[in-house]
Amino acid sequence: MTILKDTALPRDERLSSIEGILFDKDGTLLDFDDSWGPVNREVALLASGGDAALASTLLRACGMDPETGHIVPDSLLAAGNTREIAAGFVSAGSLLDVEWLVPRIDAMFAGAAEKSVPVTDLAELFATLSRRGLRLGIASSDNELSIRRTAERFSLTPYVDFIAGYDSGHGVKPQPGMVLGFCAATGLDPARVAVVGDNNHDLHMGRNAGVGLKIAVLSGTGSRDSLSACCDIMVDDVSHLPGLFSVQAGEV
Ligand SMILES: [Mg+2]
Repeated sequence: MTILKDTALPRDERLSSIEGILFDKDGTLLDFDDSWGPVNREVALLASGGDAALASTLLRACGMDPETGHIVPDSLLAAGNTREIAAGFVSAGSLLDVEWLVPRIDAMFAGAAEKSVPVTDLAELFATLSRRGLRLGIASSDNELSIRRTAERFSLTPYVDFIAGYDSGHGVKPQPGMVLGFCAATGLDPARVAVVGDNNHDLHMGRNAGVGLKIAVLSGTGSRDSLSACCDIMVDDVSHLPGLFSVQAGEV
């Protein structure tokens, strides 16, 4: 685990002031490459009209190397929502219409939730954090149905107070709306909330909402270099969170 930096407030004091955690999904709770590499290729092939060479061009333009599967940090395929990805495909040469692509890509992403691979034992993680009195939510640029399927599949639903996708009516990252929706659902002030994510749009969403803590994880498409400017704490992955929040009052 890497603690990158502390701010004026001592770290323990900052951590103990946190009463809720809003998680990003892909690259944070789910292993990005294993979960999304195959579906990104399928989606690009759809957008190319079945032209494999064009599909490779579309993948490259939106941030994925079709040879290695590597995803560029903060690129459209790393961090964009369905509408942004569809628009990216069209500007990179897809002859299809954004409005035609969006529902089809959403359906493919929702289908991919059934095959997604978790970063750690998510039910145990959420149960542990919940026992420590923390309220939990998930905010993703994916669609809400995909997030709900993921939560059900990994038995997280009993521990989750709030779920928001790009289509849930809370705006999109890095706007602050998803954090404010979590706050409305839990009654927490943003200063009592930590945001956890693998891309800058997660951290910027937290900053725009005035959250108490921005935690970067290195399990997704972000890197130490790309994430260090905007996070308060950096950890390898979410399995380190119970160690960070071990001093919470109210633990049973
Ligand atoms: Mg992510």
